[in-house]
Amino acid sequence: MIDVLIIGTGGAGLTAALSAKEAGASVLVVGKAYPTNSQTSMAQGGMNAALGNVGEDHIEFHMMDTIKSARGLCNEDMVRHMCTDAPKTIAWLESLGVPFSRLDNGASGVETIAQRQMGGASAKRACYAQDYTGLKILHTLYDTCLKENIDFLDEHYLLNLIMQDDTVKGATFLDIRTGEVVQINAKSVIMATGGYGAVYHGYTTNAYGSTGDGIAAVVRAGGAISDMEFIQFHPTALKSSSILISESARGEGGYLVNTEGERFVDELKPRDEVARAIFAQLKSGSEVFLDVRHLGEEKLMELLPQEVALCKLHEHVDPAKELIPVKPVAHYTMGGIDVNKTLKVYGINGCYAVGECSNAKVHGANRLGGNSLLEITTFGKLAGENAYKYAVDASDVEADNAQQQKDKMQLENIYAQENTINFYEKREALGKLFYDSVGIVRVNTALHIALEDVLSMQTSLSQMGIADKSPTNNTNLTDFLEFSNALLLSPSIISCATARDESRGAHYKVGFEAQDDAKFAWHMVLQKKKEAV
Ligand SMILES: Cc1cc2nc3c(=O)[nH]c(=O)nc-3n(C[C@H](O)[C@H](O)[C@H](O)COP(=O)(O)OP(=O)(O)OC[C@H]3O[C@@H](n4cnc5c(N)ncnc54)[C@H](O)[C@@H]3O)c2cc1C
Repeated sequence: MIDVLIIGTGGAGLTAALSAKEAGASVLVVGKAYPTNSQTSMAQGGMNAALGNVGEDHIEFHMMDTIKSARGLCNEDMVRHMCTDAPKTIAWLESLGVPFSRLDNGASGVETIAQRQMGGASAKRACYAQDYTGLKILHTLYDTCLKENIDFLDEHYLLNLIMQDDTVKGATFLDIRTGEVVQINAKSVIMATGGYGAVYHGYTTNAYGSTGDGIAAVVRAGGAISDMEFIQFHPTALKSSSILISESARGEGGYLVNTEGERFVDELKPRDEVARAIFAQLKSGSEVFLDVRHLGEEKLMELLPQEVALCKLHEHVDPAKELIPVKPVAHYTMGGIDVNKTLKVYGINGCYAVGECSNAKVHGANRLGGNSLLEITTFGKLAGENAYKYAVDASDVEADNAQQQKDKMQLENIYAQENTINFYEKREALGKLFYDSVGIVRVNTALHIALEDVLSMQTSLSQMGIADKSPTNNTNLTDFLEFSNALLLSPSIISCATARDESRGAHYKVGFEAQDDAKFAWHMVLQKKKEAV
């Protein structure tokens, strides 16, 4: 029986795999795509660590910035752990071979790593590899996993956790290639399945597959989720495609201007403030542009080559010569699977969660740019170690195949289901509903209507079957499963946003514009009621 089953092959899953393996565990990493295809590869701007390579910086400053941005909703011990470990984590990544951009400063090793400014940071703290930081980190982690002979199972879609009372015993997967339902038994499980930004389909920088599958599986298994209403909107996505233009473009000196060519906000304020300022401009009928022309072509190609390529390809503008039209879209989900300081999931023994799918209480109401790559690598290690510690004493008696049989029947039902409503249209509608009604500026009346709309979508899910009935390589089926998970999580996001009658970080509500610590300085935790036996 496997000691540690890791679900998700992004930066969090791969780091957890390396640390569990190093601790002595037998490890299997399972993902619905291929490791190099995970969303981590999209991270551009950088990873925070108070190295002080470019001006003064200290771990305490990093902590203070993180706590300030979290607006009272973080756990200071977890923040301290993350920020204190950051320099060590950068040194570890460097030792694995991550090609960080360098300074020509006559120093050696980690002290030569270049650092740039990100929004809400009091120092140049983000270590980067041009604007391909996540890609380079992910590829290096994957190379290292291969060197360490870690086993992978690709194209296996998580269906459900296998539960015995309150203890996880493994998970069931759809083998996308064969259409079989597979049961994998394990002594402990790490969820590293990424966030739920794709609920805002069409209005997000996230990949289509960021539908919160792992969070939904934890909900079904009886685990707790928290802070689901906190969704970060990134100020600068390309206007027509929602593709991200990294904060590093502003960090390197880019301006935001309106149709009149006027600057209207300090570009390096935290993301929620800049996003709201842009939103207000757009609402007033103005367009908003990112202006990096003054940086010059040579500097742009040296520091931001990916951004330049994305602008040319997707917006048909040359940033060295033209203004870049931008809009704010959903970018990062602060809420997720509720975990304690060891990253154990509340409500499920033997189950750990790490990365964007989890809520380790380090980002609170608003994540700082550069802190997510840090979280997935720093806490990835912690998750691997703790899951293995649990596995050492865990029972190796395998669960029966009841969950596997249940999941087979459920898939058969989806194949047999009438297909009178096109779920792809509903996926578009859900994204627009969320952007318009559960977006940057929230209003209770619109939230109430949005909740009714998603509940009615849930009711009509049984009429949204799949057109493609082939058993193998059926992406119509996996798209449907992803949409079902996004729909399952939607009411919790809206209900928490409705209940939070205040404004805090990324959650801003009309009529309740102030932060109300007396009533709301706490986390909203949701857990499915246990069925009576
Ligand atoms: C465009 C963009 C730019 C960003 N830039 C930065 C940045 O500069 N700095 C920073 O700190 N952060 C940045 N972020 C945020 C950061 O990249 C993510 O928060 C982080 O990479 C998440 O890592 P993860 O391992 O938790 O999840 P992911 O990388 O999303 O990986 C999730 C994994 O789970 C798998 N999975 C999901 N569902 C299932 C299922 N049902 N069955 C099996 N497997 C499943 C996926 O295939 C994937 O392998 C950026 C994000 C985006 C979208």
